[in-house]
Amino acid sequence: MNPQEIRRRQYLAAMGIPVWESRTPSVATQVSSPQTANAGGPTESPMPPAPSPGTPGPVSAMGWEDLEQVVRTCRRCGLHSTRTQTVFGTGSRRARWLFVGEAPGAEEDRQGEPFVGRAGQLLNAMLLAMGFKREDVYIANVLKCRPPNNRDPQAEEVLQCEPYLLRQIELIDPGVIVALGRHAAHSLLKTEMALGKLRGQRLSYHGTPMVVTYHPAYLLRNPVDKRKVWDDLCLARDVLESQ
Ligand code: SF4
Repeated sequence: MNPQEIRRRQYLAAMGIPVWESRTPSVATQVSSPQTANAGGPTESPMPPAPSPGTPGPVSAMGWEDLEQVVRTCRRCGLHSTRTQTVFGTGSRRARWLFVGEAPGAEEDRQGEPFVGRAGQLLNAMLLAMGFKREDVYIANVLKCRPPNNRDPQAEEVLQCEPYLLRQIELIDPGVIVALGRHAAHSLLKTEMALGKLRGQRLSYHGTPMVVTYHPAYLLRNPVDKRKVWDDLCLARDVLESQ
């Protein structure tokens, strides 16, 4: 059994999916390329620029420290009035993989960290099955504050908040972005195209390669689609390896 197939089985087991025996190569095997030592793994990019001291300038010129501070006190959109706290992002600031969801939910709003709770646990399982720990990648949302009652992000909120994500991406300089779910994909790509049509494509967000897949919360409701996520993550790894 080749390393890719071993990894696929580990992924399916971690996701609670029985492994099928097939006489023909799996879709995942067809999509993905042979794995090379450490390729696509949690390798790190060079250190980002050091935070600039003094008064913060424009968001596009901020270092991590100023960016975190500005987000923490941000009032650029109405969500500041209903949040418990902002949810900045977590993980390695030198990660090659960046996972982006739409916005914090109730638990994230309470804890101040993205992708906690059941959906977060499923994301952790997906990462583990890919050979990563949560701290090897970077995880963030398009919006840093929770929309009330978990409603969909509004265009104006995305417009106001997106510069923070853009600056995070510039500082991290990831090899690939994985957009988690329809709303994240639509917010980043400025499209209304169905998620099913966006999946399977090598996309780009401000020059950084991007792949779209399902949100873990969706997978909790539709576990049959977990197999498709494996295909999407293999594509993301291919994108990374091809650079
Ligand atoms: S969602 Fe973004 S733009 Fe709106 S208040 Fe929060 S940090 Fe600021």
